[in-house]
Amino acid sequence: MVDNQSYFVSDLFPDNVFTAFLTVKTVSFTNKSLKKTAEKIKDFVSRTVDKPKDLFKVVFMDQRHTTNTAVVTKDLLLNSDFTVLDSTDAVITNLKNTILVAKTADCLPVVYAGLKFIAISHQGWIGSFANLAEKVILKLQLVKERLTDIRVAIGPHIGACCYSIDKNRQSLFRLVYKQWQESIFVKLDNSTTGLNLLRLNLLQCQQAGLSLDQIDSRLFCTACDTRFASYRRDKTLDKQNISLILKL
Ligand SMILES: [Zn+2]
Repeated sequence: MVDNQSYFVSDLFPDNVFTAFLTVKTVSFTNKSLKKTAEKIKDFVSRTVDKPKDLFKVVFMDQRHTTNTAVVTKDLLLNSDFTVLDSTDAVITNLKNTILVAKTADCLPVVYAGLKFIAISHQGWIGSFANLAEKVILKLQLVKERLTDIRVAIGPHIGACCYSIDKNRQSLFRLVYKQWQESIFVKLDNSTTGLNLLRLNLLQCQQAGLSLDQIDSRLFCTACDTRFASYRRDKTLDKQNISLILKL
């Protein structure tokens, strides 16, 4: 991950794939203001990759902590500048100039690219518990991407340092991820345990068949690092973290 002052990019991807992780103050994701937000995202991409703005379309997800994964085709985009996918937490596409967007405030965003397809997903503890990252990697293989060609970057999210979880949630994870329980929990103090979402998602990507050099996973904790938005820290969604990926 490379710090470009106002946003971060992953340097793991080929030149025809652009990724960015940025934190923004003024955009809104209510249905009424999505058009404006799409314009701002297109402005940013157009400026950064130096291509005309009207080339781009934006795909938003109506994120609901599901594992629903959409495949975006030309027909779905029609002629509109932006699209919102109902109840979706991951998107795959092979279309060029189509900006896939995930919004987060502590949850963990992941961007993916193979040779033809790109993808994005949003997962908090529920999506991580449901193994969404591995599911997206499997879907990429279904559209004929080879495992060895897939690259993944995990964006800013709440670190185990700040993500204490209660006993019930702990036992849920201990039950299902018994084999990893030594590494996905961190003891924060005598009575508090933190969940390491990064480690869990990394293990899931590896379980899907990726090696560590295919995964960009430098940790930025949204709650410790005030450059990012954190709902746990700020108790508001005035600021949001936006992750995006597109094929040029
Ligand atoms: Zn932290």
